[in-house]
Amino acid sequence: MKAKSSSFLKTYSKLLFLVLLLSSSFTFAQNQNIKIIDKPIVFDSTRIKLSLQYLKERHQIPAKTITIEPVMIVLHWTGAKTFSSTFNAFNHATLDGDRKAIAGASNLNVSSQFLIDRDGTIYRLMPENNFARHVIGLNYCAIGVENVGSDDFPLTEAQLLANEQLVRYLAAKYKIQYLIGHYEYTAFKQTPLWKEADPNYQTGKTDPGADFMQKIRVNLKDLSLKGAPAKNK
Ligand SMILES: [Zn+2]
Repeated sequence: MKAKSSSFLKTYSKLLFLVLLLSSSFTFAQNQNIKIIDKPIVFDSTRIKLSLQYLKERHQIPAKTITIEPVMIVLHWTGAKTFSSTFNAFNHATLDGDRKAIAGASNLNVSSQFLIDRDGTIYRLMPENNFARHVIGLNYCAIGVENVGSDDFPLTEAQLLANEQLVRYLAAKYKIQYLIGHYEYTAFKQTPLWKEADPNYQTGKTDPGADFMQKIRVNLKDLSLKGAPAKNK
């Protein structure tokens, strides 16, 4: 009886060791890999047609597909307080009736490739190298990352960390050279990257806040990504 219970104990402790080993390697693997949840918005033939039209008419790029070659990541905040209100706003092909400032340029709805919730959960709303309308003049070469937040609802530490992880993931996968906040986009007007048919088409932006951009740039210094060029007076 004694011998039997000690062999049982040995087997039990071996099993326990194996379980601990497996669970620790699982956590390790998770830390090495970013967690992205796919939650696709509607991407129907209307959205594809309007995206191709935007590429042609606004960016003057006669593309056959909506695949882009991203060289830039643009960080945003949504201005909305919940994940679902932003998701619902992006989740149809044509623009909402209240977006008068940008409706004249195209009927394509706005969207972004990624949306990060307050708790840092990263959602991929569409294929990451497909065209999305989120930044005038630069959509054809920029991946958009929206964050649930606003001027009076500043982005969280969890969102800062998630943006950092996401930028690292994208910079390793694509030839990303620039990381900018949406409020910086008009600085590209004087560069060859800017492609917009109407020189007067622009809107004023403050997202995602200068503080947020300063913090993320410090944390991502090792990637040597460029910011917006200095504006000529
Ligand atoms: Zn924005």
